[in-house]
Amino acid sequence: MQYLTQKLRLSDVDFADRSVLVRVDFNIPLNNGVIVDDTRIRLALPTIHHLLVSGAKVILVTHVGRPSGFDVALSTLPMAEHLSKLLGLRVKHAVDCIGSEVEAIVSEMVTGDVLLIENVRFYQEETDNDPEFARQLAGLADIYVNDAFGAVHRAHASTTGIHYPVAVTGQLMEREINYLGSLLAAPKRPFVAIIGGAKISDKIGVIENLINTVDELVIGGGMGYTFLKAMGNQIGGSIVELDKLDLATDLMTKAEAKGVTIHLPVDHVIGQEFDPDTPAKIVPRNQIPIDWEGFDIGPETVEVFGQVIDRAETIFWNGPVGVYEFDQFAVGTLSLAKRIAETDAISIIGGGDCVAAVQKAGVSDQISHISTGGGASLELIEGKELPGIATLTDKADYSS
Ligand code: AMP
Repeated sequence: MQYLTQKLRLSDVDFADRSVLVRVDFNIPLNNGVIVDDTRIRLALPTIHHLLVSGAKVILVTHVGRPSGFDVALSTLPMAEHLSKLLGLRVKHAVDCIGSEVEAIVSEMVTGDVLLIENVRFYQEETDNDPEFARQLAGLADIYVNDAFGAVHRAHASTTGIHYPVAVTGQLMEREINYLGSLLAAPKRPFVAIIGGAKISDKIGVIENLINTVDELVIGGGMGYTFLKAMGNQIGGSIVELDKLDLATDLMTKAEAKGVTIHLPVDHVIGQEFDPDTPAKIVPRNQIPIDWEGFDIGPETVEVFGQVIDRAETIFWNGPVGVYEFDQFAVGTLSLAKRIAETDAISIIGGGDCVAAVQKAGVSDQISHISTGGGASLELIEGKELPGIATLTDKADYSS
């Protein structure tokens, strides 16, 4: 993968006595300021440990949620407290992310100190990628490390606006790129991608690129109905993008030309309305009544898709194959999660919904790699340049 061979890694740089600004992704679910899931904090620990062992002063910066202005419910304070427990040292917290107060705390930091500054999204300048705001952030340290894979596809001040002579790839970022990059470079075959979710329009580029690499493509979820309709099936009131029918036909033609088999649902669990308690039943493909909607793949489809999973050596999964938030339409998605967990294949899962589904199925620890970046993983697979990686220092330009 070009990114990895080109970009500076932690092991290339001497961090002793240096102040290091680390862009982490602590955009985690909070409930009234209480951490609901600390996965992303724990995943940042290897990079923080590396820097501490190397004698650095560590200044952590993250965004949380989408606040408009200061919002105590999205403060990073609970994360600083939690991180203190995980690291076994007192992590300092700054009540702002720029300005004299933060600068004063930073100026007193010594080797081995960790500081978490306040949510950068409290400033509109963060998402605007405002150069003056980025300059103030950059002023806090001498070296920049980006370990926020989940935010790397966004050109914001803290991900791309900060210009340091030395900007380094964090360990989590490296792991993400390694796994996802290997899918495109040299996947073990057969390589199967399972793409679901609500709409085809969000994932056109991904499907187009995957058709060039995969051996088999499994399509489920809401987007499956656009493909089924394009093939002339009766899909009742199921979610469909009528302006994408030609595109769906096009993708199927391209796949056929490349020798890639596309698998679509052969039966459905349908409901009368979008409601967790709506009456539901199972029908074969092409038999969804006009006033019913397809909300999940049926049992026969679970078996057909399951067999595709069984013969795969590499599996990439993004997007649920049904409305998994409602118990009676979650069976398909959870069954696939379990089936993937049972194989010896390399399995890579991206996107918040699939991550939630593997957790709900209780099989997270049987998945090879759960990506922390839904959008970022899709853009990487789409072949797009990720702005947060493009700005990291090339090895060729670095002399220690
Ligand atoms: P995405 O963000 O595009 O991956 O879409 C995820 C959403 O797709 C989830 O909230 C699912 O409830 C929804 N979804 C999956 N299958 C269907 C379906 N058959 N009808 C409506 N929504 C669906």
